[in-house]
Amino acid sequence: MIKITTPVLGEEELKEVKKVLDSGYLVQNKYVKLIEEFISKYVGTKHAVAVSSGTAALHLSLLSLGIKEGDEVIVPDFTFPATVNVVEMVGAKPILVDIDPETFCINTEEIESKITNKTKAIMPVHEFGNSANMDEIIKVSKKYNLKIIEDAACALGTEYKKKKIGSIGDIGCFSFHPRKSVTTGEGGIITTNDPEIYEKLQILRNHGISKVEGKVDFVLPGYNYRLTDIQAAIGVVQLKKLEEIIDKKINLAEIYNRELKNIDKIRAPKYQEEVRHTYQTYHVILSESINRDEVIKELKKNEIESNYGAYAIHALKYYREKYKLDDSEFKNSLKAYNQGLALPLSYELDEKDVIFVVKKLKEIIQKG
Ligand SMILES: *Cc1c(COP(=O)(O)O)cnc(C)c1O
Repeated sequence: MIKITTPVLGEEELKEVKKVLDSGYLVQNKYVKLIEEFISKYVGTKHAVAVSSGTAALHLSLLSLGIKEGDEVIVPDFTFPATVNVVEMVGAKPILVDIDPETFCINTEEIESKITNKTKAIMPVHEFGNSANMDEIIKVSKKYNLKIIEDAACALGTEYKKKKIGSIGDIGCFSFHPRKSVTTGEGGIITTNDPEIYEKLQILRNHGISKVEGKVDFVLPGYNYRLTDIQAAIGVVQLKKLEEIIDKKINLAEIYNRELKNIDKIRAPKYQEEVRHTYQTYHVILSESINRDEVIKELKKNEIESNYGAYAIHALKYYREKYKLDDSEFKNSLKAYNQGLALPLSYELDEKDVIFVVKKLKEIIQKG
């Protein structure tokens, strides 16, 4: 089976985990500090706060900004649902915006019309390792005094105009789920330059514990969203391989781009000059005449794993029933949800695998 993705794990991770087990310090300790130091340096922010998942990262980010019931947060309609679920979790209202059909990220031209006096933040998603149009997002956030939380869960290493994603908004959120480029099993991390947000995040991830006049006290009803040192030890080794993994994925993606160029029923992702796309997912759009779910089944018969890339949030049961939004507002998102196809892309694959996938895909599509 050619898998969509495979984590790159080995003896070195095992060796570091053993050190943690031997030390007896299993939760938030030395390795959590190391992973935070690595990420803040790599992303280029003053601070990083390791947490138990990408979703925890997003949730704590909203809480650290004091976003709550009565507030509105602008989010793209096409994403992994966690982005929007966390807005519901803090009691705020997600305001869904359609995506750009070529980048799969929020359509920045539609943001301004969705802003009200309740809007507190914009949460762009750097979908599939691509980058949202951050210049436009910053422009509109400045005009209306909004915070920016970057959902960079699948975009560690992605750059926009030579700056790392996660360092451009007020807060950046990353995931270390095995579906991303590097993994800790479950895990996530938050980046920020703001010392107050940093302080709040540390308190919230650890039961609300802080020091008041030198004495340990509980200053907030916090969560337990800590990353363990076992996970962090895996992560520290993984992060050493990050650039190598990304380079390999970019190479393979370029082979896909080349091989798919002249197939008119498949649209390959758009190249953006100002972005270093890290291709967490290689996502194409099949034309409307093709039954995407059938293609997934046929690829599977050929030992090729594929899937859809992300979801049109307004069309999912909870959001559909609660907000009753019209499909016509989310044409690009809906098309990506119905006709999008994520193809295998990982460090373990090579050129011949990609060429084989494209060959089979062509055969299936031409058969109709
Ligand atoms: C993976 C992902 C998440 C969730 O991360 P977890 O670590 O699985 O909680 C959130 N948003 C986006 C865009 C993602 O790709």
